[in-house]
Amino acid sequence: MAKYTDAKCRLCRREGVKLFLKGARCYSPKCPIERRGGQIPGQHGKKQGRPRLSGYGIQLREKQKAKRFYGILESQFHRYYEESIKSPENTGEVLMQLLETRLDNLVYRLGLTGSRSLARQLVSHGNVLVNGKKIDVPSYGVKPGQVVSVSPRGAKINFVVEALKVENFVLPGWLSRKAVVGKIERFPSRAEIASDIKENLIIEFYSR
Ligand code: SF4
Repeated sequence: MAKYTDAKCRLCRREGVKLFLKGARCYSPKCPIERRGGQIPGQHGKKQGRPRLSGYGIQLREKQKAKRFYGILESQFHRYYEESIKSPENTGEVLMQLLETRLDNLVYRLGLTGSRSLARQLVSHGNVLVNGKKIDVPSYGVKPGQVVSVSPRGAKINFVVEALKVENFVLPGWLSRKAVVGKIERFPSRAEIASDIKENLIIEFYSR
C-alpha cells in the first residue's frame, strides 16, 4: 500500500537531503529521510534509484536544493546571485549571507519559529518588527546591528510559544536573543552557516 508523504517531505526526498521544512518533525524519527533515506518520490523512485547526473545536472540540483531550503522562487534567487557577483568579496559567501539575512530566515535562526515557512507566515501577517517598525516583507534584508522582535500579539501565537520552549535549540554565534527580541551582531562567515549547500556549484550554474 502506498504511504502518504506530504509535499514538503517530497521536496527533501527529491533532493536526497533534509531541508528542514516541517519544524519539530524534521528532528524526529518520523522524518521520512531518517526512515527511508533519500529515496526519490514516485512509483519509480524505489526501483530506479537516483540517476547519474552530468556536471550541469549536479549544478542544477544544488541550485534547486538551495531554493527549496530557503523557500525562494527562481526570479528572486537569481537576483541574489546578481547581487552577490557585484560584491568584491567572495561571491559564494556573499550569496549565502544574503540568503541568511533575509528576515524570514533570521526569525527562524533566532528560534522564534520552528520552520522557515512559519517564520514567513509570522512576518507576512505583520507580527515581526525590525528596530521597532513593522516589516511584513519576508525577503527584507536585515543588517548587522538591527533588532528583530515579535509583536505582543505575535508572541502569543501557538507556534511561537512552542518554538520558545525548545530546550536543545542552539543560537548561531552571529545572533543574540532575549525572549522574543533578537539582534544580528554581524554577518555570518560561511563556516557559521549551518547548511550543506555547495554554493560554488550554484555560482557555476548561473555563470555558464
Ligand atoms: Fe519532511 Fe522535515 Fe524530514 Fe524534510 S527534514 S523529509 S520536511 S520531516
